Amino acid sequence: MSNETFHAPTDLGQACSLLSDLGDKALIIAGGTDLMARFNRHRRRRSDVLVYVGNLGLDYIREKDGQIVIGACAPVAHIAASPLVREKLPLLARACIEMASPAVRNAATLGGNLGTNARNADGVAALMALGAVVVTASTAGEARTPVEQFVTMSKKQKLADGGMVNQFEVPCLTGDDKWAWEKLRQRQGESRSILSVSVRARMGGAVCGRIRLVLGGMAVHPFVSKTAVQVLEGKPLSTDLVDRVAAEIIAETDAGTDARATAWYRERAARALVRQVLSQIA
Ligand SMILES: Cc1cc2nc3c(=O)[nH]c(=O)nc-3n(C[C@H](O)[C@H](O)[C@H](O)COP(=O)(O)OP(=O)(O)OC[C@H]3O[C@@H](n4cnc5c(N)ncnc54)[C@H](O)[C@@H]3O)c2cc1C
Repeated sequence: MSNETFHAPTDLGQACSLLSDLGDKALIIAGGTDLMARFNRHRRRRSDVLVYVGNLGLDYIREKDGQIVIGACAPVAHIAASPLVREKLPLLARACIEMASPAVRNAATLGGNLGTNARNADGVAALMALGAVVVTASTAGEARTPVEQFVTMSKKQKLADGGMVNQFEVPCLTGDDKWAWEKLRQRQGESRSILSVSVRARMGGAVCGRIRLVLGGMAVHPFVSKTAVQVLEGKPLSTDLVDRVAAEIIAETDAGTDARATAWYRERAARALVRQVLSQIA
């Protein structure tokens, strides 16, 4: 690869100007764990100009005003090992430690996980369950968007004016919050999710308060279940209710068949995992 096709800016303003000037030709690269595999499979245009965002100092993890703020280029391995994340966002720590292999986790970033636009992106599913906001930076300034809304937007809407993902703002879990995360994969270590189910709920004894239940790998992108909110909020999580809601939640999904699993298998497995995570928080 020649120098003309690779840039490594060292501050955010410089990166946004460069991305804006390059327009459609620019291709952001962070850890490269997803992108380089695509290059190797020749699924990228040769005319792409790579803009490496790993030198912008966006690898921080810090607490501010009841939130954990995570830079887009923080490696997944650092997030999983961070004492702050493990204490205040154990759901995210769990999702990160179960991603890929140690080698991939050392390079892979949370910004890149969102950038893949993958239906089974584990970091994205966990961020959604936690009600996180994604902050994008561009030559027009900063924009804040809930992660569940961001994934539904077109690429142009998401990253206009030389935009890139800058950081995530994630509300800390409190003492009344319960959470659970389960992921189904083909084999331990290297495999991406067939599907994942994550849940965060504010519990008053056995009664379910505000709940966010997220399914990954069961539609074109991870999504927050509306049925879980409608059926479960304000009710005790009895075994009967959990069984019923698991069936109703699956009706919301649009599971496809791919090399990892058939739609038939996904639907049955998702139903079992929904029951499992709800039983864990009951
Ligand atoms: C063997 C293997 C196993 C894997 N297992 C899992 C798994 O279990 N779970 C999972 O979720 N993923 C998995 N992945 C996919 C991948 O590793 C992750 O999605 C990772 O988080 C991508 O991050 P990255 O920094 O490497 O992204 P890159 O490959 O650098 O980029 C990915 C995409 O995001 C864009 N992008 C990167 N950073 C930014 C930014 N700051 N702003 C805007 N766009 C950006 C890029 O342009 C590109 O389109 C696996 C990959 C491999 C190779």
